[in-house]
Amino acid sequence: MRMRVLVTGGAGYIGSVVTEELVKDGHEAVVYDSLYKGHRAAVVSGAKLIEGDLMDVERMRAALSENRIEAVIHMAADSLVGESVEKPAKYYRNNTVAGLRLLDAMIAEGVLRLVFSSTAAVYGEPEKQPIEESDTTNPTNPYGETKLAFERALGWYERAYTLRYASLRYFNAAGATKLCGEWHDPETHLIPIVLQAAAGRRAHVEVYGDDYLTRDGTCVRDYIHVVDLARAHILALGILDKGSRIYNLGCGGEGYSVNEVIETARAVTSRDIQIRMGARRAGDPAVLIASSDRIKSELGWQPAMQDLKVIIESAWHWMQGHPDGYKE
Ligand code: UDP
Repeated sequence: MRMRVLVTGGAGYIGSVVTEELVKDGHEAVVYDSLYKGHRAAVVSGAKLIEGDLMDVERMRAALSENRIEAVIHMAADSLVGESVEKPAKYYRNNTVAGLRLLDAMIAEGVLRLVFSSTAAVYGEPEKQPIEESDTTNPTNPYGETKLAFERALGWYERAYTLRYASLRYFNAAGATKLCGEWHDPETHLIPIVLQAAAGRRAHVEVYGDDYLTRDGTCVRDYIHVVDLARAHILALGILDKGSRIYNLGCGGEGYSVNEVIETARAVTSRDIQIRMGARRAGDPAVLIASSDRIKSELGWQPAMQDLKVIIESAWHWMQGHPDGYKE
């Protein structure tokens, strides 16, 4: 079924790929983005861009009604753990309060289907691996806390206003399409940092600790290709009318350690990548691996690009083609 979909944060890294996939599938995509971090050039042709703030309920209502929107994918957010500890007010405002404003606009316009970008950070320090959706949520930073607060609001809004939602708890998104890739300033994520070092744009990669109880002492994460992640949003759109769901999204398995990511990037790029051993980063759990069995069995989702080599290759190709990112 083709739908008219509004994507908040559609000019950001994951949002741009979700928008690209929507357009490819013949959906009508309207990106709503303040461009405070997103990039105009990341909005694929075929999608319409509305520059607007989530706090601006009137503007959002107009965007929903004028484009006869049937569903919203809500991806606009701040997402840096460290920054959230320093600036919790920013995270409560942009992730929780602004999200509630979006819901006000949606309910006022009778748009009652939502796919929400949630995060593995809602679990905090996990009790076991792989993490299942029914495991305890106990965030250890304001980023996870503000995402969870919004997720919990969705549960109450569902009862009272018949909102239908899918909350997708992402593990570590990585990789790129030909058109869309990861470009943050400053960059904090491991794979783009490693590739910047390979490209000679930074002198070295600092490894945040090698004294964890993992196979090589460095942290282990579950990397998922951004296109596999995007496909899950499109599958989720199709089941909203059946009821609300929460899904983890990762590739599972053994994950990859920081050292394994660096080794793989050396192999993919054939470049030298210098490392410096640094201290642990505050708030980093040793291991985060998803069980994505629920979305696999309920929606038939399957990652097509689980191999880290394939993920890193796609990011490297994008970086080679966009040496200055989305410089406008
Ligand atoms: N990391 C690192 N050096 C960096 C950036 C990240 O060692 O310059 C580590 C980080 O401690 C974590 C893993 O790489 O264990 C993935 O971090 P990232 O910020 O990419 O994602 P997160 O897991 O925080 O969502």
